[in-house]
Amino acid sequence: METKHGSGAEQMLADIREEVHYARQWIGKDVLDRRVMNAIAEVPRDVFVPDGLKAAAFDNTPLPIGYGQTISQPFIVALMTDLLAPLSNHKVLEIGAGSGYQTAVLASLCGMVYSVEFVSELTEIAGERLEKLGYGNAHIKTGNGYEGWSEHAPYDGILVTAAAPEVPRALIEQLIPGGRLVIPVGQPHSRQELMLLEKGHDGEIHSRNVLGVAFVPLVNKPILK
Ligand code: SAH
Repeated sequence: METKHGSGAEQMLADIREEVHYARQWIGKDVLDRRVMNAIAEVPRDVFVPDGLKAAAFDNTPLPIGYGQTISQPFIVALMTDLLAPLSNHKVLEIGAGSGYQTAVLASLCGMVYSVEFVSELTEIAGERLEKLGYGNAHIKTGNGYEGWSEHAPYDGILVTAAAPEVPRALIEQLIPGGRLVIPVGQPHSRQELMLLEKGHDGEIHSRNVLGVAFVPLVNKPILK
């Protein structure tokens, strides 16, 4: 697949395709949505990793971004984005902007992206990167993702990039009927399940476990109050 970001980025796309193929039994398909793969090809991951790690920017692995946090593995970013089934007219919410990489992928696919990040320094760094790259449709605020971002609700899709012990109620409430919520659920340092929840037009929630995953925890400290 074509990318403007060199052979490292092309290898990353090939690695994602390979891992999707290996996990096809759990994912339920062998190839991810073309638009999602195009978005991954378009967003320069090297911009979102710290200076000392640029050489590893296109490795198909998570990388540390400071503050005890990580930029997610490219395969996981691609898979979660695919599960969300984003459309160009969608308004989506991300919880855990971190480096801003997943935010950028969503911003290249959707009409509007809102993201809530707990660590104010990360909010600032990610916000600057997105602005520099021209993603004017992405907005990040510092806050507690357990509460969602009610001002802009309801959302066509919600994507959570840290693991919660259970699905936060506010997020289900802020999802539009017909919308999708993608979230890793489980305790820190134990097996977590990447879950896809769909809110029916009758408001009923249907969910399925997609894949075993390992995410940093969605913390819930009242330090912002
Ligand atoms: N999407 C990010 C992944 C970052 S890791 C990326 O592509 O880089 C998960 C992020 O969730 C971390 O930045 C962490 O600070 C944030 N986080 C943890 N608990 C949170 C909470 N309750 N609300 C909002 N963000 C939270």
